[in-house]
Amino acid sequence: MGCPLFIFILIAYGLSAGTAHSQTRFQNPLENKNVLILNAFESNIPVFQKTNQGLSAALQSGGIGIRNQFHEHLDLVRNPGPENRKLLVQFMRRRYSERRIDFIITLFPEGLKFLLDEGRTFFPAAPVLALYLPQGFELPQAERRIIHHLIIPDFKPTIETALKLVPGAGRIYVVAGTHPLDRWLESIVRQDFKTWKGRLEFRYLSDLPLDKILTTVSAAPSDSIVFITAYSQDVTGKYKTTVELSRLLAHVSRAPLFGFMDTLLGNGIVGGSLISFEYIGTRAGEMALDILGGTRNTEKIPILLEVPQLDMFDWRQLRHWNLKESALPGGSIIVNREFSLWDLRYYAIGVLVFILAQSFLIIALLVQKRRRRSAEDSLRQKSKELNQFFNVSIDLLCIANTAGYFLRLNPVWESTLGYSTEELMAQKFLDFVHPDDLVRTQEAISTLASREKVIHFENRYRCKDGTYRWLEWNAVPAGSLIYVAARDLTDYINTEVEAKQHREELAHMTRIATMGELTTSLAHEINQPLTAILSNAEAAQRFLSRAEPDIDEVRQILADIIRDDQRAADVVQKVRALVRKEKFHDEFLDLNKAIKEVVALIRGESLLQGLSIAMELLPELKMIHGDRIQLQQVILNLILNSAAAMRNAPRAQRKIIVRSTMPDNLTVQVSVTDFGTGIDENNIEQLFEAFYTTKPEGLGMGLSISRTIVKAQGGSIKASNNPEGGATFAFTLPILQGDAT
Ligand code: ADP
Repeated sequence: MGCPLFIFILIAYGLSAGTAHSQTRFQNPLENKNVLILNAFESNIPVFQKTNQGLSAALQSGGIGIRNQFHEHLDLVRNPGPENRKLLVQFMRRRYSERRIDFIITLFPEGLKFLLDEGRTFFPAAPVLALYLPQGFELPQAERRIIHHLIIPDFKPTIETALKLVPGAGRIYVVAGTHPLDRWLESIVRQDFKTWKGRLEFRYLSDLPLDKILTTVSAAPSDSIVFITAYSQDVTGKYKTTVELSRLLAHVSRAPLFGFMDTLLGNGIVGGSLISFEYIGTRAGEMALDILGGTRNTEKIPILLEVPQLDMFDWRQLRHWNLKESALPGGSIIVNREFSLWDLRYYAIGVLVFILAQSFLIIALLVQKRRRRSAEDSLRQKSKELNQFFNVSIDLLCIANTAGYFLRLNPVWESTLGYSTEELMAQKFLDFVHPDDLVRTQEAISTLASREKVIHFENRYRCKDGTYRWLEWNAVPAGSLIYVAARDLTDYINTEVEAKQHREELAHMTRIATMGELTTSLAHEINQPLTAILSNAEAAQRFLSRAEPDIDEVRQILADIIRDDQRAADVVQKVRALVRKEKFHDEFLDLNKAIKEVVALIRGESLLQGLSIAMELLPELKMIHGDRIQLQQVILNLILNSAAAMRNAPRAQRKIIVRSTMPDNLTVQVSVTDFGTGIDENNIEQLFEAFYTTKPEGLGMGLSISRTIVKAQGGSIKASNNPEGGATFAFTLPILQGDAT
């Protein structure tokens, strides 16, 4: 890969990264916070510049931009009089009348004092961070919340390092100014340097005018050390900043210079354990962000900002004085380092590795792009296929979203429901559901949302003409989408309903026909009690017409009458129940009892031309679910068929056995066995077909209806010949679930 391409890609990468960054901008809560920085001195003093470097960068990194950083330089050293202060107050009042300041940072004690005196009405609610207060500074009484930062210089570490770098050093020149702050610092130096009393010679130059200071230092022996504290004016009142002084000294000195402020680094000193104004600025900015961002709660705001000194050295000065880097404290920061090619070898290797890594990355991206394109192609192809599938399906297909709207529908919807696709998509899909089916449908949909699987449900769906169609839905969720295939069941359901009605009609007819067969016997069955009632009533009449009627006898006769009447009523009622045209009636059912009832109805001696019915019923037969009347009709039908098959059989052979059994613990079976003609084994299936009959007066519906009834209740029916002659018809039904054991 050529270098230009690589560079192009790097640039493009850089640009796109930049765009991405600006696109992902978000509203920073600190974006509109304003910070006021009150510098007591001139705007261009090095301490301010260094401080501001760290401060401004920190504030910006937290979202407080340059526009929200307000600097006021009070210039109080050059303009100490009250007139200037008054002007400043007027000026600032005007300048900030339309603004809100959220945080104030003052530099130097004079800055804080100005704020607390003249500026006490300025933004009283804003917290104040007062930088660069001398150690021991007494905080004035104030309403404001003030965090103070104290300059607590520790000069000893610098001297320790200097002595390591210049091992034989015997004398130290201490350069300081005469401003009170300079004097204060010198006093601390004198205190600190007592450690080396007797071992080192200290020369303090603060009482000399500037030119004398310079000549003294220029005459210093090379094995001595020059230490600069702070300087703003000499004994004659001549102003110079410490930085300016440091530069002058660096020019003339024959011994290495050390200091304690980072402003001097790069301006002539070798370095030292420095108070880093830049670092203080950074920490001040971070604290402002913390407080403004509310990451510290109010009680936790410290009253002190403590910033450690940093070991910092100037590589050029180390070189210049031929000082060993190895003598520096661990972790020292070295500035102004110049690199030889050899020094850069690791960087070169690093860059090479980076280039290689980038190249691989680019190749990988290209490969991935190609793959993606081919994946997209195949996806496009698939979606085309899907489209075709969508359009040819005879089912109703659609994609909906979880918000309840159709997103895509195939044309079958239009033809089935009569709406246009747009009309369907304009409403929620639940809006078309029949009110009675709504709850069920909503339940199904919430199940769908909670379970990642296909669910089925049925409902009535409104057509444009106001009628409803039965739809059977199969839906599966896929993220925020639902894939649905629906089928129109209306016609099927209608034919089912019709068929059911038909079946019920037929069953009714068959029952009537069956009863027709029974009419003679039933008449006899009812006649018997009626005759008994008649003769009993006559007997009672006779008893009563005697001179001394036998009341007890009459009472007995009346009881008989009531019993006979009851018998007759029972027969009538049972016949009525069997013949009544009723809809399917599901109930909890004891088949043994149902069998007994049927047999009781037809048991009359004359009824079945002298044949006997035996019952072998399993006492522990389980309960089932079913329609009692319909099942009794089946049993009755089987018994009557058996009787018919034995019509010509010798009397002794005319016997029917009705059994109930449990072939397994999930099933009950009822069988009717006779000893008649038996059945044609080649035609067993035909027996159960409608209109199959071998009887001249037969309808051929009995077995067909029986099979329909048994099947509808989850069972089956079969016929077989007995080894000893005759046939057995048996039907099975499932045991009520939960009662299987
Ligand atoms: P139908 O009794 O009106 O003929 P079914 O459907 O009840 O109608 O019976 C169909 C046919 O099955 C009968 O005509 C008869 O030939 C045969 N069949 C039914 N039950 C028996 C049985 N127990 N023994 C012999 N044949 C039977």
